[in-house]
Amino acid sequence: MKERIYNFSAGPAILPEDVLKEAQENLFSLPGVGMSILEISHRSKTFDKIHAEANQDLRTLLGISADYEILYLGGGASLQFSMVPLNIMPPKNKADYIVTGVWSKKAVKEAKRVGTVNIVASTESENFKRIPKQSEFKLDPDASYVHFTSNNTIYGTEWQSEPEVGKVPLVCDASSDILSRKIDVNKYALIYAGAQKNMGPSGVTFIVIRKDLLERSADSLHTMLNYKIHVENNSLYNTPSVFGIYILNLVAKWLLKNGGLDAMYKTNKEKGGMIYNCIDNSGGYYKGHADKDSRSLMNITFRMPSEELEKKFIAEATAAGFDGLKGHRSVGGLRASVYNAFPKKGCEDLVAFMKTFQAKNG
Ligand SMILES: *Cc1c(COP(=O)(O)O)cnc(C)c1O
Repeated sequence: MKERIYNFSAGPAILPEDVLKEAQENLFSLPGVGMSILEISHRSKTFDKIHAEANQDLRTLLGISADYEILYLGGGASLQFSMVPLNIMPPKNKADYIVTGVWSKKAVKEAKRVGTVNIVASTESENFKRIPKQSEFKLDPDASYVHFTSNNTIYGTEWQSEPEVGKVPLVCDASSDILSRKIDVNKYALIYAGAQKNMGPSGVTFIVIRKDLLERSADSLHTMLNYKIHVENNSLYNTPSVFGIYILNLVAKWLLKNGGLDAMYKTNKEKGGMIYNCIDNSGGYYKGHADKDSRSLMNITFRMPSEELEKKFIAEATAAGFDGLKGHRSVGGLRASVYNAFPKKGCEDLVAFMKTFQAKNG
């Protein structure tokens, strides 16, 4: 099959076609290098340049100042569930966590191995259909940091703005909405994101860490778990995902060429808006999982009148070239993940499909 279908997968997820084409064109031999990106040393001049460009472009896109370091590590976002507390929970050994889904819970599980976890707020009793309000928070002003998950990939909820945490360092798992809109990085102490949702391929985790936090990384930590050592070695203590960083660089250039994060956010609002409108105007046939004021622009979750209809919808959608719409088992129903690279036309076509399906089966 040469034609591409619509890929609504939550992750690994769709990448920009221009990026795939450029990678394909140069996969056999990088221009002027004569070797594939898959074959070159992570200590070569060629890779140095790719790595430096990725840093530069991501700094430009996100407005990352010189107060912050950038890392590209292995182990996925999941390893950060451990690295964050191991490095920055000491010496107080207590941290605040806001629980808004399965990924937040997994972060809490690892943090508890290091010290005391205070749950600031949780919406678990409502099956994580909303982001908690500031007035619900029970913050500890003496905590080592506050951790939150900016976009809840499984439930389709997203913070509309950062929690206010005063002087306590703010740590964010931004795996599924990083680069989808501008953020003020200066509000954060640490941001981490597995690349495979909205940045690039799997196998590389992007981390932005404020320099002063590095003082907390104890020498007694295992080398590969120590942020300070990774920073001192510019993410090259061991072999990083060379291909992953190469693709991140191409994606960053694609974003810059297409107007940066403000332009992305505008398109993401249009794309998400189309599908949410269809849900809201379906007379209850399609029901969104997330509360309206907590809706994610990246992962749109919804249910239908019965599980039979959901199965039928997924089967017919798959046959019609809409792949990956089955919801996560914790929510059921459907989930349309429409990351930066997902085309607007795909959202229009999904809406048309949803309307036709309802007309036939409503
Ligand atoms: C996918 C996801 C993770 C897990 O990422 P891995 O790279 O597979 O470890 C963590 N947090 C969020 C918000 C995610 O969407």
